[in-house]
Amino acid sequence: MKREQLYSGKAKTIYSTEDPSRYISEFRDSLTAFDGKKKGEVSKKGYYNAQISKKLFDLLESKGIKTHYIKMLSDNEMLVEAVDIIKIEVIPRNIAAGSITRKYPIKEGTVFKNPVIIMDYKSDEYGDPMLNEDIAVVLGVATYEEIAIIRQLALKVNDILIKYLDERGIVLPDFKLEFGRKNGQIMVADEISCDTCRFWDKETGRSMDKDIFRFDKGDLTKAYEEVAKRIVPEIFQ
Ligand code: UDP
Repeated sequence: MKREQLYSGKAKTIYSTEDPSRYISEFRDSLTAFDGKKKGEVSKKGYYNAQISKKLFDLLESKGIKTHYIKMLSDNEMLVEAVDIIKIEVIPRNIAAGSITRKYPIKEGTVFKNPVIIMDYKSDEYGDPMLNEDIAVVLGVATYEEIAIIRQLALKVNDILIKYLDERGIVLPDFKLEFGRKNGQIMVADEISCDTCRFWDKETGRSMDKDIFRFDKGDLTKAYEEVAKRIVPEIFQ
């Protein structure tokens, strides 16, 4: 089924298939932080992230939001639509954490009355600078219409995830979305996992996400497993 490796990122590898309209996304155990300066390998991370992503893509689809997800091929391999990735990292923020507390006078833990949507230019070379619509259009990464659609989709996804996770004892301070285009349609792509979301335990406030790796906060496999137990309990039966 897998043909050639098309792209290998920090945590996933994308392969072509015999069907040019479909790719395989393989979730690996490797991870990086701080622009690739910190590197690691954590057992079962790819498995938990793939399963969590699958479940959250299914959830979005059930609410009428198109994603690139088609089906799982193995524990950590996903068959996905071959899309053109839009080079924007879209970050909905509900509670201040991470870079927003370093760049602006905003204290960690500040709850935003309305979600704050940040869009960054996806470019390692330029350090993912923040975009506005005009710069995005000048760079040719998206049209004004696409940016408006992306913003609306990001807000919708955020609403859906906040509610779903809250019911499972998880707070969602922020997360990163990527979108792809295919035949004129924009869909959610990439992944939605412990690597790309901040997940805080509702009871204790403890991190259950990649911040554990970023700041050496403990056992990452155990935390990702705990998130998986709440989101995909069926894989533990
Ligand atoms: N994020 C991501 N990939 C990136 C940058 C950010 O998945 O390249 C996610 C990150 O996990 C967090 C959210 O986007 O959930 C906001 O990250 P932030 O800008 O606060 O960056 P950080 O604190 O990681 O420097």
